[in-house]
Amino acid sequence: MDQPQPSEVMRPIVCTHCHEKQVVRTDGKFGIRFMHAQSVRCLKCGSTFDVILPYQIVAGPYAAS
Ligand SMILES: [Zn+2]
Repeated sequence: MDQPQPSEVMRPIVCTHCHEKQVVRTDGKFGIRFMHAQSVRCLKCGSTFDVILPYQIVAGPYAAS
């Protein structure tokens, strides 16, 4: 019954402090329950910022390029 879903997906995010583009790895399953702020520590400036994605962040961030 379940639709095949990618297990993990890289998704772009942007730091709200320095606007550095980076990526996080998220679980591939969409879930409205994940639609809440998840804290990420910026690779560049080291500040913590919140990202809102309907996916659970499982790893990252990583450099975008
Ligand atoms: Zn930053």
